[in-house]
Amino acid sequence: MRCGIGYDVHKLAENRALILGGVQIPYEKGLLGHSDADVLAHAIMDALAGAAGLGDIGLLFPDTDPQYAGISSLKLLQEVRRMLESKGYAIGNIDAVVIAQQPKLRPYIGQMEETLAKTLGIGMPQINVKATTEEGLGFTGSGEGISAQAVCLLESKE
Ligand code: MG
Repeated sequence: MRCGIGYDVHKLAENRALILGGVQIPYEKGLLGHSDADVLAHAIMDALAGAAGLGDIGLLFPDTDPQYAGISSLKLLQEVRRMLESKGYAIGNIDAVVIAQQPKLRPYIGQMEETLAKTLGIGMPQINVKATTEEGLGFTGSGEGISAQAVCLLESKE
């Protein structure tokens, strides 16, 4: 078994959709980035890439590459899934946390888990998403940005 960790941050900005775990969440701001800036999907991809020894998403999908501009991070997640499969890895489980002062994410957690599980070809018991506020502290607490952390276990199919 191999474990991986992922961490990501994106800035909140006007006139952007807020996409977390592939789910569009109604909010006055969205995350800024080269892709759709899905901070949760990015943290999960980094955890998976790390566990598989594939580096990180910056290496796999450079933000200087125009083909990734505005891309749905679910497409990138699908690509990571394909890479894991070709290296003979199966996902054991993923646990993740989104750190956001606002909006309240609880109503969307199930939908995020379903979307991520479907994209990765895993069962619902294998993925867990949590959300927390930062008690008003720091850049997440002030609403300047949203961060996410993820850990995962990979099992070798051989
Ligand atoms: Mg990112």
